[in-house]
Amino acid sequence: MKEAGYFQQKSGNSVICSLCPHNCHIAEGENGLCRVRGNRNGILYALTYGRVVSAATDPIEKKPLYQYYPGAVTLSIGSVGCNLHCLHCQNWQISQCSTESADASLQQLSPADAVAETLARGAEILVFTYNEPSLWFEYILDCAKFARQQHVKLVMVTSGMINPQPLQELLAVVDAYRVDIKGFSQEFYRKLTGFDVLDRVLANTKAAYQAGVHVEVVTNLIPGWNDDELQLRGLACWILDELSAAVPWHITRYVPCHRLTAPATPLDSLERGLQIGREEGLEQIYLGNIARHATENTYCAGCGELLIKRRGYSMLDNRIVAGRCPECQVVIGCYRG
Ligand SMILES: [Zn+2]
Repeated sequence: MKEAGYFQQKSGNSVICSLCPHNCHIAEGENGLCRVRGNRNGILYALTYGRVVSAATDPIEKKPLYQYYPGAVTLSIGSVGCNLHCLHCQNWQISQCSTESADASLQQLSPADAVAETLARGAEILVFTYNEPSLWFEYILDCAKFARQQHVKLVMVTSGMINPQPLQELLAVVDAYRVDIKGFSQEFYRKLTGFDVLDRVLANTKAAYQAGVHVEVVTNLIPGWNDDELQLRGLACWILDELSAAVPWHITRYVPCHRLTAPATPLDSLERGLQIGREEGLEQIYLGNIARHATENTYCAGCGELLIKRRGYSMLDNRIVAGRCPECQVVIGCYRG
């Protein structure tokens, strides 16, 4: 078992885990709210360290990351546990379960082997996804030691629920931060995820951007929950003011899942988000989880030229040269490749 970072010992063999904003006070023998960081004899352990429940070779576009090494192959891995309890979680079987209940399906994968497996699959990017990677804090830091030697890049697909200090440690080693900003109201966050954590998610996203890590934002639009004008415009303005007009914003279609039965998001709701984002000046907005749409491509913010052509998650053509549009030479902000 791997001893966890970020905990303090308290009286009666209890501990406080300070990895994430819940700051769980955990009694001896118990686990935190995430179910995967546990107090054993007064020491906090990262119970999922090096234990993988899901691994797949995927295009980077599926994460989705559209302006980070377009067309790149990734090895995507995840474990169990989450520090949010989203009603519509698509991965609830793994996110809302403990290491104990998932024991038989967890495979050991050491940090060295994770990086070796990435290369063996012809990939250059290792993505921590499926469940909340912040809970893999120690594992990601250890993977980074091998990844750097082998020129493998690291990506977190996260809900942004981690405390500032451990986040800074992760930002020092990860190359891209694909974050869910699920909506733009505390009340919405509380109802959907169980917790009032919007401010922390926003602050962490800004910290990632300021650290020079590649950032792309995803908002899953749920009809009647977060698709009102106030939230959409508020979030678009926030991305513009606190990050950059060039940061990609993926607005994705929700489909009923887990404990949420609201109907799937209609296309016009997604297109309203697109229109609002454009009105506020965001340059790269993509609609996701839908059949083919014009926004599956990347166009130049300067001259409108088609720069990256996609079909679904496949990248068909990329005309960006040294980060610039070949027609008007405008720098494509927030592009890595
Ligand atoms: Zn151009």
